[in-house]
Amino acid sequence: MKKLFIFIMIACLCAVTCTKQEKNPFFSEWKTEFSVPPFDQIQKEHYIPAFEKGIEQEKKEIEAIVENKDDPNFENTLEALEESGMLLRKVSNVFNVLNGSMTDEEMQKIDQQVTPLLSNHRDDILFNEGLFQRIKTVYDQRDQLDLTQEQSTLLEKYYKDFVRGGANLSQEKKDELRKINEELSNLTMKFGQHVLKENNRYELVIDNKDDLAGLPQSVIDGALKAAEDRGYEGKWVFTLHRSSITPFLTYSEKRNLREEIFKAYINRCSHGDELDNKEIASRIAYLRVKRAHLLGYQTHAHYVLEENMAKKPENVYDLMNQIWEPALEKAKQESSELQDMINEEGKDFELQPWDWWHYAEKLKKKKFDLSDEMVKPYFELNNVREGAFYVANQLYGIEFAERTDLPKYHPDVKVFEVKDKDGSHIGIFFADYYSRASKRGGAWMNSFRKQYRLEGKDTTPVVTNNLNLTKPSGDNPALLTFSEATTLFHEFGHALHGLLSDCTYPRLSGTSVPRDFVELPSQIMEHWAAEPEVLKVYAKHYQTEEPIPQELIDKIEKAGHFNQGFVTVEYLAAAFLDMDWHTLTEPKEQDVFQFENKSMDKIGMIPEIVVRYRTPYFQHIFAGGYSSGYYSYIWSEVLDCDAFHAFKETSLFDEATANAFRNNVLKKGGTQDPMVLYKNFRGKEPEVKYLLEKRGLK
Ligand SMILES: [Zn+2]
Repeated sequence: MKKLFIFIMIACLCAVTCTKQEKNPFFSEWKTEFSVPPFDQIQKEHYIPAFEKGIEQEKKEIEAIVENKDDPNFENTLEALEESGMLLRKVSNVFNVLNGSMTDEEMQKIDQQVTPLLSNHRDDILFNEGLFQRIKTVYDQRDQLDLTQEQSTLLEKYYKDFVRGGANLSQEKKDELRKINEELSNLTMKFGQHVLKENNRYELVIDNKDDLAGLPQSVIDGALKAAEDRGYEGKWVFTLHRSSITPFLTYSEKRNLREEIFKAYINRCSHGDELDNKEIASRIAYLRVKRAHLLGYQTHAHYVLEENMAKKPENVYDLMNQIWEPALEKAKQESSELQDMINEEGKDFELQPWDWWHYAEKLKKKKFDLSDEMVKPYFELNNVREGAFYVANQLYGIEFAERTDLPKYHPDVKVFEVKDKDGSHIGIFFADYYSRASKRGGAWMNSFRKQYRLEGKDTTPVVTNNLNLTKPSGDNPALLTFSEATTLFHEFGHALHGLLSDCTYPRLSGTSVPRDFVELPSQIMEHWAAEPEVLKVYAKHYQTEEPIPQELIDKIEKAGHFNQGFVTVEYLAAAFLDMDWHTLTEPKEQDVFQFENKSMDKIGMIPEIVVRYRTPYFQHIFAGGYSSGYYSYIWSEVLDCDAFHAFKETSLFDEATANAFRNNVLKKGGTQDPMVLYKNFRGKEPEVKYLLEKRGLK
């Protein structure tokens, strides 16, 4: 009866659009091969009703779990939770992929409309006292339950979600926590908006042609266009956006202008006006300490890192210190080489931060005689993709076959079926490599459907890769820079993580792993992309099919170590700053620059380099999700360098090592502690020395 009642309610709600909704493809099983989303049937008007019904359905499912008269156990609580929300998952996955790759105003409007619905829905689940009590009951009995590894990880994850959200606190403390969370979300939103406004406020307007000295034509054209857009006819404009300021600092011969724009960049959001972020940053750090204490943690970093592979702030500092020393040493050498170059030019000044990019570029040209244009003919898009497939095939025996008969959401997309060495179906891979107006920037991996195994049924993955390569005109081939080719391999590594997943529960499947572990499967692929043996297979001249000459490979290899002291120091200094802000043990307002200077002095930062992000515009940690997490990139890099060395010690495609990586890392998703997974693969903990070697720091 209850079901019938709800059915009638829904029928009434959608009375107006009923004819359309009868055909809403989210409400029926997909009859396409491998249940690939039927893109030709999915219309934008289907999303909102599917989201709403998905939320409604999950609510009902959770209510049923809470109201179950049987004593809570793993099956009727945890497994039931994993089985709930399937419709919501189905529509969210499709919407999220397409909102990244094929967005428009209508999609963004839908996004704005559903985001608060979804966040409320999540909060409702996390604050559901009855649900928490059931999970807690199972959790408290966990030692007697004879759970599999995967099950105990799942139980622990759910329990932790609730506890970390404050479920174990008294009502009074819960109220306090809610207030802190509310203030924090307002402050972090403000912080981000201020940076955005500040970026758009500044402009360097050039009206004298002489001031363009040194800039390549393409950069000048871009600046002319930027000026036009801003109503400055016949002038040139540079802004603080990376794509504008970086080429300016690199190529401009006008030292005074480099200084001007650089100083504008590093003084963002600290002018004491309405966009100033100093007090906001201090307040955010203050509130985070308070919240950590409320939840029983020593510092915010302890709270965050418990969920990561690093576990404790000490481990993060320990790693950073090991890399910092040699990196700083290298940066000092680089600095003196750049100073020599300045002197050779007969100029009489000391190297300053606004000179670094400029002289590094000059030195690179002089030392290596290497440019993007020289290598591009060897990196034709299809060849590079086949190169990635080749590596996966050599390692795991898996095959990729293009399928032109499966549904796709855009003509530029290529769809591949992935099969294991015994011919069995693994999953589907969507390769969407060209940029277009409807695609967001950057490169990423995503899933239309994750792999899992519930109710005795195998669900196979459907994953996507997106890049933003310029689409060639007519019959011209797409030629990539070496760095773009590396990015393709990187994203493909994430795709393999999703495709080769072999997990029971969706919550733990594929790439659902901690942030400081997730880049291991992707970054390790970059190593193969750059191996001479592999380059000779895939880097073939697009006209002559000649493999890339050894001389060019040598140049790429040598240039790989160039400027790594600077790059590492600039990045690590920001990672130290992040950790320093989040290991404060007492809630106390800070003088932001005093704090920052102390932090930089402590590590011996040199004046020729400025930390990649200063506090007032360090969005990753004050407006994004990277607080006490900015170190993650290099943490993962330690892992991928160490992991790749396992192949170097044997052979590039060593079967036993590849199987160990597949079985212990790629297959396992987040089903076990990442360090355990890693040690199962490698037989030991990772060592930092291979990263130092790769960056040329030892
Ligand atoms: Zn990545």
